[in-house]
Amino acid sequence: MSFTALGLSDQLLQAIADAGYTTPSPIQSQAIPAVLNGHDVLAAAQTGTGKTAGFTLPILHRLSQKPHNKNRPIRVLILTPTRELAAQVGESVKKYGSHLHPRLKSEVVFGGVKINPQMMRLRGGVDILVATPGRLLDLVNQNALKLNQVETLILDEADRMLDMGFIRDIRKIIALLPKKRQNLLFSATFSADIRKLTTGLLVNPVKIEVAPRNTAAELVEQVAYLVNKSNKTALLCHLIKEYDWQQVLVFTSTKHGANRLTEKLNKVDIKAAAIHGNKSQGARTKALAGFKAGEIRVLVATDVAARGIDIHLLPHVVNFELPRASADYIHRIGRTGRAGEEGQAISLVSHDEYGALRQVENLIGKKINREQITGFEPSAEAPPMPEKPKRKPRPNRSSNQARKPKVAGNRAKHKPRRLSENRSRSEGKLF
Ligand code: AMP
Repeated sequence: MSFTALGLSDQLLQAIADAGYTTPSPIQSQAIPAVLNGHDVLAAAQTGTGKTAGFTLPILHRLSQKPHNKNRPIRVLILTPTRELAAQVGESVKKYGSHLHPRLKSEVVFGGVKINPQMMRLRGGVDILVATPGRLLDLVNQNALKLNQVETLILDEADRMLDMGFIRDIRKIIALLPKKRQNLLFSATFSADIRKLTTGLLVNPVKIEVAPRNTAAELVEQVAYLVNKSNKTALLCHLIKEYDWQQVLVFTSTKHGANRLTEKLNKVDIKAAAIHGNKSQGARTKALAGFKAGEIRVLVATDVAARGIDIHLLPHVVNFELPRASADYIHRIGRTGRAGEEGQAISLVSHDEYGALRQVENLIGKKINREQITGFEPSAEAPPMPEKPKRKPRPNRSSNQARKPKVAGNRAKHKPRRLSENRSRSEGKLF
């Protein structure tokens, strides 16, 4: 299947070629024709599947076929859970629409920044608005925009919006839209709440389900290092230095924990920045830009802040703590191995997290290798719970091989890799 066969205009095909895409991803080959035909769509798809282009391209096609009227009302409304995702979707809209004539106007609005400049930018009218729910309602309340001519509503990462408590805002927004419209809903998971939302929202939707491109089971190599809680920071510093990791995303479960860890890393000259909900939008954008540019080596993030961050080819993700909700583990490790590349997800697991580790394994349907690093072995305070038969010791690699830093891209050939020969196995001992 090629993009040409999907019925997109030449200008859009040009933008696709500019982006370097040659083949539509599974979600794109299913969603694009459905959206072009005006159907409602219910898609089970995570970040990394190409879902953004899956809805943006056909929406741009439809809009560009019908010129706007003189007031330029909002015709497409895209709701996202976070500021970062809103910004990224906004960038995609601009990128894919760059060859269209006449040009379509798009804007992105989200909270945490001044509202007045956003009101000014909306004045001349926009065709496509990307928004987070709270700020959108603030703008409606200030009469800065009207939603009564919206033709297509897109809920991106709907599950996350519900997790973040946006359901009431979403319902208020829906009440402001014309009754007759196209609805597209993208969600990684389908909880009872999501199903309830979709029932009232979607009319005979085309249902699309695609396997995540970078599932835990596929591209991401996963390992759990067993370590005492008090030793986690030291172990993280050791791993970063020992393997010369240059770009690592670290997840902590609290904002406070993210700040503390960032401070400690900076103290030992590992350049780090934190990104979480208490940081100003400016600070978050700056941290992300510094990280992408390679000026910041470690980005320490909470789950909500990291949601939707698109960092291409991120080689290492570290769970400094396992997430409270196992589903977040999948979102977290989705930060590595993006768009067909491979990556490595490392969890630093202390005794109190053994149960959480098993829950994660139940969710992903496979076991995660437990390992220990010499000098950072956990104290034997946990009850022995053997889950795996003892393995025969593996032959040592040459020190050359063992010390090679991880490089994403050439992993498929390797069996579970050893990071270093000074790592000892723990299977059958603590678990
Ligand atoms: P998304 O799931 O929308 O966040 O997209 C994930 C990544 O895949 C983004 O970096 C896109 O630029 C990239 N991408 C989207 N569609 C394609 C495609 N057809 N071929 C290759 N990469 C793509």
